[in-house]
Parts: sequence; structure tokens; C-alpha cells
Amino acid sequence: MSEVSGETLIYPERSGAVGVFGGTFNPIHFGHLRSALELLEALPLAQLRFMPASEPPHRASPQVSATDRAAMVERAIAGERRFVCDRRELDREGPSYTVESLEELRHELGDERGICLIMGCDALLGLPNWHRWEELLSLAHLVIMARPGWVFPDQGVLGSLMRDHAGVAEDLVREPAGSLVTQTLSPQDISATNIRVLLQSGLSARYLLPESVLAYIAERGLYAEQE
Ligand code: ATP
Repeated sequence: MSEVSGETLIYPERSGAVGVFGGTFNPIHFGHLRSALELLEALPLAQLRFMPASEPPHRASPQVSATDRAAMVERAIAGERRFVCDRRELDREGPSYTVESLEELRHELGDERGICLIMGCDALLGLPNWHRWEELLSLAHLVIMARPGWVFPDQGVLGSLMRDHAGVAEDLVREPAGSLVTQTLSPQDISATNIRVLLQSGLSARYLLPESVLAYIAERGLYAEQE
């Protein structure tokens, strides 16, 4: 059974849902962190698990190892006890399929607990390419964050998904899975791509990500300036 911290703080009368925030986190930045914290406080979530992908199936493998990316996540979330780094995808061979991680988590947490797969609107648009994507909503709820520059789909298969599964915050604790909730947060127009470009150009990425992560990047010589 995984440890679940923070429940008493948020929803003392019932157990909160568990949020799962997957990504490459290459590197983790304040766009991820501030959005995650606002979600925790806006929705009935007891805990939020950052789950770095080891080999993301839908994009080129990151130059920086999964171990380094997870280490940066751990440094970034130190001190926030409702945040956890879930390293399960690092320990599994082959591509990091979210559906398999959710199956494992469902097994650990039991059939009753709400599990919420969290993603930005940009990630939602790629969902139909995910391995066994139609099964995701039988294992978890989907929480979709608005992201500057991206619009929620209202047509096609994703438009139908949004309409058919539209839910509200209470569903996340009333049911274990099956609802899709959208959430608008303070816009954080920060991307890991932009941070990598800054660092590779020899420019400062300060104030876009935690100092502890910047220190780790410097220590390990990651995203080094290109000739
Ligand atoms: P990259 O620029 O390398 O694509 P990224 O900054 O988008 O990286 P990822 O690790 O790919 O970060 O994203 C993980 C998840 O975080 C995705 O669901 C993405 O939509 C979401 N996300 C990333 N940045 C933000 C942001 N600034 N605001 C809200 N959600 C974000």
C-alpha cells in the first residue's frame, strides 16, 4: 500500500482523491509546481504524485536521464508533504505507459479511492495516441488544466469525451474513476522547452524553476551551453 499523506489536512471527513501528474519534467518548473499546488487546494485531492516518465512513448527520449529528472522533481517538491515523487516508471522496463501505472496504482489503493490523472490541455490533445487510452477513464478521473495558448477540444473524439464524461469536483471523491474535470488555474506561461533553450544559449533560467533545481542542473552540468 502506498503511503498517502495530507488527507487530514484537506478533507478530514473523508479520504481525498490521489492526483497523478505524469510528464517528462525535463526539467520540472514553476508551471508544473504552481499548477499542482493550486489543483490540490481547489479540488478534493489528498495528495499529488509527480510521476516522471522514464521513456515517454510519444516523444523523443529526453537527453537528460530519468534518474536526473526524478532527482530534480524530488528537490523541487521537498518540504511540501502533499507532494510525492512516484518513481514507478523508472523501475519498469520499456516505454512508460500511463495505463499500466494507473493499473498498478489502482491495485495498491483499492477500488474505492478516487484517482485523478492530471494533464495540461496540450497533453489532452495527444491522448488518442496513447496506449489503451480508452481504458484510462475506467481506472481514473481526468483533470485537465487550461494552459496558455491551448484551447479545450470541442469536436471529434476528444470533444465527445469531454461532453460524455464532464464532471464536477465532488465526483473525484464520490466515484473512483470516470469523470473529466477541467480546471482553470493562474496561467503560468513557462515550458521546459523554453528553459532548455535558455540554458543551452548560456542565459539565465532563474525565477522559472526552483533554485534547488537550478543548483542540481549546474552541479551535474545538465542542459549545457551549446557551441
Ligand atoms: P516540454 O516543453 O519539454 O514539452 P513541458 O513544460 O510541457 O515540457 P512536461 O513535462 O512535458 O512539461 O509536462 C508535463 C505535464 O505538465 C503536461 O500535462 C503539461 O501539459 C503540463 N504542463 C507543463 N507546463 C505547464 C504549465 N506552464 N501550466 C500548466 N500545465 C503545464
